[in-house]
Amino acid sequence: MGKDRDAEYRSKVSGYYHQLMEQCQANMDRMDRELPRAREDFGEILKERGVTRRNFLKWTSAMTAALMLPPIFKPMVARAAENFSRLPVVWLHFAECTGCSESFLRTSYPNVDDILLDTISLEYHETLMAAAGYQAEANLEKALKDFPGKFVCVIEGAIPMGLDGKYLTLGPKGKTALELGREVTSKAAATICIGSCSCFGNIQAAKPNPTDAKGIRDALHISTVNIAGCPPSPQNFVGTILHFLMFGGMPPLDSLGRPVWAYGKRIHDYCERRPHYDAGEYVEEWGDDGAKKGWCLYKMGCKGPYTYSNCARIRFNDGMSWPIMAGHGCMGCTEPAFWDTMAPLEKPISEKPIGGWGVTARVDSLGAALTGAAIVGIAAHAGLTAAKGHGQPKKAEPDKESHE
Ligand code: SF4
Ligand code: SF4
Repeated sequence: MGKDRDAEYRSKVSGYYHQLMEQCQANMDRMDRELPRAREDFGEILKERGVTRRNFLKWTSAMTAALMLPPIFKPMVARAAENFSRLPVVWLHFAECTGCSESFLRTSYPNVDDILLDTISLEYHETLMAAAGYQAEANLEKALKDFPGKFVCVIEGAIPMGLDGKYLTLGPKGKTALELGREVTSKAAATICIGSCSCFGNIQAAKPNPTDAKGIRDALHISTVNIAGCPPSPQNFVGTILHFLMFGGMPPLDSLGRPVWAYGKRIHDYCERRPHYDAGEYVEEWGDDGAKKGWCLYKMGCKGPYTYSNCARIRFNDGMSWPIMAGHGCMGCTEPAFWDTMAPLEKPISEKPIGGWGVTARVDSLGAALTGAAIVGIAAHAGLTAAKGHGQPKKAEPDKESHE
């Protein structure tokens, strides 16, 4: 009986992925016909940057796994990477520190993710483009005219809503971020918010929020894909674009607009210090014996139990390390209003309910409610049909998924 159920389950999963593969192939054929030609040959770029074929294949395997796809999708991920530079992107900067762009640019040992970011077809990016003033404005107008409904709008930074948006004006015509955001996102195929400022307002929106700053979803009332983090992982951005190129839509999102494949699990669930948490072995003071032994940082204010992100699995700087590995607790930077809700950052908040969005489980009991990796993997792609039209709904709809 058990074996029959297993066989039935395996056959359902295999049928599902078979169907997904067909959608992927059909979409990539369409993209091949519709996207502008590549400016440079990707294979040549990899060669020039010293990435061997073997390293590229290793990266393809890792990215396929990160996207929660089975290995049969590796050739599709490779094909999407080759098309990466063909997708037109308009990158807007609002109220922020440009740290997200900086963190994507400042890499000492560029890997494939970094090379893809270098080749991205930026039709407009205020801090990177050479043009300024009216010339920059003309570039933006040209991009909107040349690629209506075909470009991806990436937004870094929050929108100050106070004084009818006048706390932030940009460009020679003095448009407010609110006006510019409305104009550009209405013509985009999809809008990706990069970093917690554009996702949720972040430090600009921290109390007392004098400019009434808001994340893009709340400010413009549109659906966005939120690549949260301060700064976010470049891999989560690259993976989201690859998903768009493969399936013609953005990946399924959690209730906060974050891709399920990247933000579906808590920091605490994959943390290498978790056995010490379970054994009750904590760092009690910076530099104590527990710190030297790599014990759990919960009592030093680690917010990993409240924070959804894949930092522990993908790490930073080409997988070299991540904050908890380096010895400091997670600050919860992928969660809304973390400056207010996670403070004080170096003190525990053990009695606080998990998250700020109605999930009432506490740290010690949440693990039991988590689903298995295979189910999360399927959920990470299950909304594909809804996303297929790759236009974004004009109004943000109440999301149905939650973390429980
Ligand atoms: S509390 Fe922080 S350091 Fe401890 S196991 Fe959880 S995520 Fe890791
Ligand atoms: S470990 Fe926590 S604070 Fe650090 S980047 Fe990841 S989510 Fe943000």
